[in-house]
Amino acid sequence: MNLSDQEYIRYSRQVMLEQVGEQGQITLKNSHIIVVGLGGLGCPALQYLAAAGIGELTLIDDDVVDLSNLQRQVLYRSNHIGKAKVEAAEQQLYGLNSQVKINAINKKVEQVNLVKLLEKAGLLLDCTDNANSRYFINQACQQAGVTLVSAAAIGGNGQLAVFNFNQHKSPCYRCLYPDLEQQDTALNCQNTGVFGPVLGVMGSLQAIEAIKLLVQPGQVTANKLMLFDAWQLKFNAIKLSHNSLCPSCATLTG
Ligand SMILES: [Zn+2]
Repeated sequence: MNLSDQEYIRYSRQVMLEQVGEQGQITLKNSHIIVVGLGGLGCPALQYLAAAGIGELTLIDDDVVDLSNLQRQVLYRSNHIGKAKVEAAEQQLYGLNSQVKINAINKKVEQVNLVKLLEKAGLLLDCTDNANSRYFINQACQQAGVTLVSAAAIGGNGQLAVFNFNQHKSPCYRCLYPDLEQQDTALNCQNTGVFGPVLGVMGSLQAIEAIKLLVQPGQVTANKLMLFDAWQLKFNAIKLSHNSLCPSCATLTG
């Protein structure tokens, strides 16, 4: 399948990149990415994925747009307040690129048969903000053998990690954070605050890693935790390894 003239024009600056090229653009067109969580991370990530010409995007979130979201959730406009985030996002993304097929699922991720959905997707972006959803997503991606691109942000700090579950014995999100439940209620954006552009940085990094996974899989920084400090303007990387006490990996190996 070749690109149409319109597609050549739309994606010309991307096709010019030697890392993408025409073949890479066709690969993006034939790809399906699931994005869970349509908040401050999901909004910028989705904008770049739709703009880049990912063929199919599945959006999962059960929240509605609130006035207090607009400081950082850049897909939404004031007239979206009260509307389901998946609907508002679908409308905005369709306006940006109507060639992208969008599946909007207005549910909590825990109520979705995610393992089944992952059978039809190349990768998943975790843009959620709570431990339960993160553990649920991690386990589903592990079971399905689908790569997970995970990010989080709080205050002026962000973090990013890619878990290549199609590789044998990849560490998982829960190897890194085996016991998040207790901290979760103490530390979230609702009571701690978050610097809006940090979410833009981290969501954009998720889109970067997702696109790279599709067109240049060898270039992805798997098994590393990238830490971003906005106030110091610093990035740090920590190597990730398996945690032999990880309950999620234990379930998988039976
Ligand atoms: Zn694990």
